[in-house]
Amino acid sequence: MHKEDQPLIFEISSPGRIGYSLPEIDVPEVDLADLLPEGYIREEEPELPEVSELDIMRHYTALSRRNHGVDSGFYPLGSCTMKYNPKINENVARYNGFAHIHPLQDETSVQGALELMYDLQQHLMEITGMDEVTLQPAAGAHGEWTGLMMIRAFHEANGDTQRTKVIVPDSAHGTNPASATVAGFDTITVKSNEQGLVDLEDLKSVVGPDTAALMLTNPNTLGLFEENIVEMAEIVHGAGGKLYYDGANLNAVLAQARPGDMGFDVVHLNLHKTFTGPHGGGGPGSGPVGVKEDLIPFLPKPIVTKRDDQFVFDYDRPQSIGRVKPYYGNFGINVRAYTYIRSMGPDGLRAVTENAVLNANYMMRRLAEYYGLPFDKHCKHEFVLSGKRQKKLGVRTLDIAKRLLDFGYHPPTIYFPLNVEECIMVEPTETESKETLDHFIDAMIQIAKEAEENPEIVQEAPHTTVIGRIDEATAARKPILRYQKEA
Ligand SMILES: *Cc1c(COP(=O)(O)O)cnc(C)c1O
Repeated sequence: MHKEDQPLIFEISSPGRIGYSLPEIDVPEVDLADLLPEGYIREEEPELPEVSELDIMRHYTALSRRNHGVDSGFYPLGSCTMKYNPKINENVARYNGFAHIHPLQDETSVQGALELMYDLQQHLMEITGMDEVTLQPAAGAHGEWTGLMMIRAFHEANGDTQRTKVIVPDSAHGTNPASATVAGFDTITVKSNEQGLVDLEDLKSVVGPDTAALMLTNPNTLGLFEENIVEMAEIVHGAGGKLYYDGANLNAVLAQARPGDMGFDVVHLNLHKTFTGPHGGGGPGSGPVGVKEDLIPFLPKPIVTKRDDQFVFDYDRPQSIGRVKPYYGNFGINVRAYTYIRSMGPDGLRAVTENAVLNANYMMRRLAEYYGLPFDKHCKHEFVLSGKRQKKLGVRTLDIAKRLLDFGYHPPTIYFPLNVEECIMVEPTETESKETLDHFIDAMIQIAKEAEENPEIVQEAPHTTVIGRIDEATAARKPILRYQKEA
């Protein structure tokens, strides 16, 4: 179903046409058989399209336009913080002294890179209220696992081997129970109350001598701040457990509140969300982990430290859980995050949160007239709506998401968190203008009206994209990765 003018090269191949020109060979020709082992050399020419250089340019440019990214349009994917990635980050990450060094180089020859890592650790300690930070983990989920392995090592060092349970709220990001399981714990779910916050009575009933930790996202994935966090910390610490803070979505509290001050012992951050590392498509991320004093001995090694004005890797950490990644983390993403923090400064970071929260509340209040609002209270960086009203008209949340594609938007997160029926989770971020937010709101209002007056247009969406409605399970399980001629 091609809905664009630019044909793909497979369709316009013409025998003998070539897309390059090389000078006559003026060195002895090499026999492939001298270079490659037997069996590795093709017997027949590959069937490649024969096209001009311009055709192939247009082919790849047309393919690239089929992608949606932050640089091409609004991307309100809840819990993913798809904010603008400032281009100055890219410039700095490409400096020769950062981009062209090797991880096996001698410490004395990469002092600038080590200083940046040390300084970034200091900034992240200040931002989170923690006592030490590792930059090794490559993503949020990897940070979670690293943090939990440290908690495990801590309990084991105290002889507390019966602490095998990690408590996770029912609104938690899916990676939380997954990381706990991979770290060798059993997970226990704690319920949310009707305000969307952790139910304290339920928490008290599941905490005990087998509690290793409580994992919490605050604000939680409903975009709500856990107001009873101090009391929750007392309950968990009182039972000898640790508090883990999922800081993937720090956009809501940046330079306003610190996990360390709320009573948390471990926190991971997603530098590829809050701190403007580009993400999506499985690209490199960075999930640093901060810890309080009593967990420092268990941090992955090495840690960058400063000795007599020299920056060095400290490997002398006998209780360390070891390395969690080859070398020292995704350095390029750390350079980007560092550039962002330094270019924003403390006041800039505070403004990030204020505007992220303002944008989310503005959209939530305007959309609440047309969609269900399960939790009618101020939100933080994101909010959830429910498509229950539209479902009664035969239009499901999935249809609404697909219809948004026709307006040029990436849909919000849908059907998550699991505790809201027909959930639509919107995170606008601070980098969007009021005009963009208004255009999106207008599209959502139009879709709500279509659901009442002309539901087919929503049920059959998208109408303007190259590919229409796909079977998502088959697309993920049995992807067709090669061009196939249309019948
Ligand atoms: C994105 C996210 C994660 C996972 O981060 P990855 O880098 O994708 O592994 C964990 N928790 C929350 C709340 C998130 O939003």
